[in-house]
Amino acid sequence: MNKIRTGKIAVVGAGLSGAVIGRELADAGHKIEVFDTRNHVAGNCHTERDRETGVMVHVYGPHIFHTDDREIWDYVNRFERFMPYKNRVKTTSNGQVYSLPINLHTINQFFGKALRPDEARAFIEDLSDKAIEDPRTFEEQALRFIGRELYEAFFRGYTQKQWGCNPTELPASILKRLPVRFNYDDNYFFHQYQGMPENGYTEMVRRILDHANITVHLQTRFHRSWNGDFTHTFYSGPLDGYFDFENGRLGYRTLDFERFTYEGDYQGCAVMNYGDASVPFTRVTEHKHFSPWEEHTGSVCYREYSRACGPDDIPYYPIRLVEDKAQLAQYAARAAQETSVTFVGRLGTYRYLDMDMTIREALDTARLYLFGTAGTASIPASADLQRRAPSFA
Ligand SMILES: Cc1cc2nc3c(=O)[nH]c(=O)nc-3n(C[C@H](O)[C@H](O)[C@H](O)COP(=O)(O)OP(=O)(O)OC[C@H]3O[C@@H](n4cnc5c(N)ncnc54)[C@H](O)[C@@H]3O)c2cc1C
Repeated sequence: MNKIRTGKIAVVGAGLSGAVIGRELADAGHKIEVFDTRNHVAGNCHTERDRETGVMVHVYGPHIFHTDDREIWDYVNRFERFMPYKNRVKTTSNGQVYSLPINLHTINQFFGKALRPDEARAFIEDLSDKAIEDPRTFEEQALRFIGRELYEAFFRGYTQKQWGCNPTELPASILKRLPVRFNYDDNYFFHQYQGMPENGYTEMVRRILDHANITVHLQTRFHRSWNGDFTHTFYSGPLDGYFDFENGRLGYRTLDFERFTYEGDYQGCAVMNYGDASVPFTRVTEHKHFSPWEEHTGSVCYREYSRACGPDDIPYYPIRLVEDKAQLAQYAARAAQETSVTFVGRLGTYRYLDMDMTIREALDTARLYLFGTAGTASIPASADLQRRAPSFA
């Protein structure tokens, strides 16, 4: 257990994790220094207006806010007005456009039928490969759920491009549930609260950080040798980066975005996936459709390409295959020894986290810390990381 000392607290990363933790602690009277290597706040949720078209762009890929957690919905609405937004994704496969997630419309269109829900359920059940009793790989799981035709049209090529490997090399656990709806609901997310920040995520995060007790240092890379200047450090940067990659680099996928503009409406929706392996990009995002309350004649789109993350690339998706998990265990053990550092967020805990989960965990982490300082005057070392130990397994 660490003794809590009074003094400044370091928050590494001005993304949602860092901003929410910083704000909670600042509200409780702590002095906070926030560091980020980038020249903007909001981390990977960063949004900015495209200079040429005026469209609000999700710079590091499309971000749709969705949650069932009422407290988190109230929290984000405290800092920014959320406009109604439902994510409706389309996919182009073999020269045709379909609706995702696979729903009754997709099934009827794909097979040229007019099935009702019960009929479609029985039809898909017939297609499923029942010879696969204990699916081990992503491919086996998909074949068992939906059969070969739908798998090949909607999953195989996309997954191969996204993860850079054959779906036969990915674990079955990636596809946990039957990825099909037997009705015409094409709302991509199930969550009760969904929306888009009226002025973008960066404005929301700027407001979260706007507090007399918070100082933000942009374009400043924090190093663990600075810990001594602070009572405690909340670190939302990459876990392996914290230890200068001494145990090797954790595997990530990175993304390349190819920007292009169009006069008018390029694709009629925000996100168009491309399921065919022969198309090198995974999807095209047309950003103006994320702000349907705005009017723009011009349009800006990003083609998205996925590839292995190199040392100079931005880490996007943790891979978490067997070798990554072994390396992760080494870093997790070292992190647990850091007596006054809490590892948080998607990079600090090497997990994919949606924004609502990121905020939930950040609030819980800050409260745990405040509870320690106000109550017993001590907190568990690297409390957050230990609490989540099972997810490192
Ligand atoms: C392509 C993509 C699409 C997504 N879409 C959605 C979506 O639609 N809906 C949804 O809910 N979630 C989505 N997410 C998840 C969302 O991006 C995360 O929940 C969120 O970014 C996590 O915030 P964070 O603060 O933990 O990490 P980040 O946003 O990555 O912030 C970490 C910050 O730390 C900084 N940093 C790192 N190391 C250092 C250092 N040594 N010193 C100083 N600063 C440092 C980085 O520059 C970065 O700004 C998506 C993620 C990706 C990758």
